[in-house]
Amino acid sequence: MPGANRDLVDRSLAAVWHPCTQMKAHERFPPVPVARGNGAWLEDFEGHRFVDGVSSWWVNLFGHSHPAINAAIADQLGKLEHAMLAGFTHEPVVELSERLAKLAPPGLGHAFYASDGASATEIALKMACHFWANRGRPAKNRVVHLEGSYHGETIGALSVTDVPLFRVAYAALLRRNIVTPFPSRHAGNKEFQCEPCAVEAAGALAKLLEEKSHEIAAIIVEPMVQGASGMRMYHPLYLRRVRELATAHDVLLIADEIATGFGRTGTMFGCEQAGIAPDLFCLSKGITGGYLPLSCVLATDEVYAAFYDDATARAFLHSHSYTGNALACRAACAVLDLFEEGRVLEANREKAKRFDAIAAPLAIHPAVHEWRRLGMIWAFEVATDSPAFAQQAFELAMRHHALLRPIGNTVYFMPTYATDDEAFAVLVGAGTAIADTLGQRG
Ligand SMILES: *Cc1c(COP(=O)(O)O)cnc(C)c1O
Repeated sequence: MPGANRDLVDRSLAAVWHPCTQMKAHERFPPVPVARGNGAWLEDFEGHRFVDGVSSWWVNLFGHSHPAINAAIADQLGKLEHAMLAGFTHEPVVELSERLAKLAPPGLGHAFYASDGASATEIALKMACHFWANRGRPAKNRVVHLEGSYHGETIGALSVTDVPLFRVAYAALLRRNIVTPFPSRHAGNKEFQCEPCAVEAAGALAKLLEEKSHEIAAIIVEPMVQGASGMRMYHPLYLRRVRELATAHDVLLIADEIATGFGRTGTMFGCEQAGIAPDLFCLSKGITGGYLPLSCVLATDEVYAAFYDDATARAFLHSHSYTGNALACRAACAVLDLFEEGRVLEANREKAKRFDAIAAPLAIHPAVHEWRRLGMIWAFEVATDSPAFAQQAFELAMRHHALLRPIGNTVYFMPTYATDDEAFAVLVGAGTAIADTLGQRG
């Protein structure tokens, strides 16, 4: 790696502690320097291009350096970059809140802002417990989450995240919550999106809530697909049952749509596919099109009313310095404009059909198993005996001009909506190289 690339990488390794990374592993494979982005593609300083097959950790929607989002942020910069939101307000945050309330499942009219997904989870957990305390039921303060759940990595969010690798080192800091079965891929049935599994898992949840709802504030779910534990898709019937059970047992339902929001699952939000509305609704990632850190928790009138009082202590007192940042809210409004103008969901549906056809030979590759798709997420398991599969697959994909970041043996494509047939074929080419080189046949 010559010149400008090498120089930036050396400075990065000396000064930057990279996320979710064993830094020593960079001795062998250094971080990839990114000079610029354009649409579905990223590029280094020597002009090597690669397709962003994971939408830069699932945040990008309309591609890199999108002219309309660029222009909106530049315009906002000339007016107001940021002002505190406690006691003050501004146009971008009001407009965004109004528009999100219209787009979200019905009844979610009160928007509370933070800057990242994990903080949205924290806020939803705090709101849920405080809601029951304000209602005179402080014993309802535990949270139910699913096997394989991922809701972020701050302490509270990690305490409802069921990914052992992320938890072990911090076990002493984590609150014990309650895990309930995931609605598919039981030992006897590995099928994703399986309906009997949804019924079975809902049955387990019903039993749990019958016994323990007096101490449970909320249940938190990732609608339609668990992302970080390996693109584990499931049947929408499960969500409908969770909604019914939560209502019946006085438990709030938190829908974490941080990854699934903004068209990723084929509908604007995953909840729509089950026809349900949660009590608390977490958004982040795609909300600014991958431009600026922003997250949001939408709450129902019922939740909001429990905090509305003369007593300060009954208010939701969570404070975050950058709440409702004007630049980020304006970027989010520009993203919503693009959805309105462009018939994006319809276009993605057409696109996904073409992409399915491009990927058809890979789907039946002998080393590829459990091929699946939901909206603009494709995933498959690779049969392999390599313990370093994920890292090797990443390196191999980079050599094939694709940014892919497998989770264990699960390879997934989560392309930006700017991805065209040619760019998707690059991802499929990289996936095929992975299956050919690292996979075991049969
Ligand atoms: C990424 C993610 C989070 C955490 O968001 P961060 O911005 O990374 O903190 C929470 N929940 C889900 C479902 C996610 O995919």
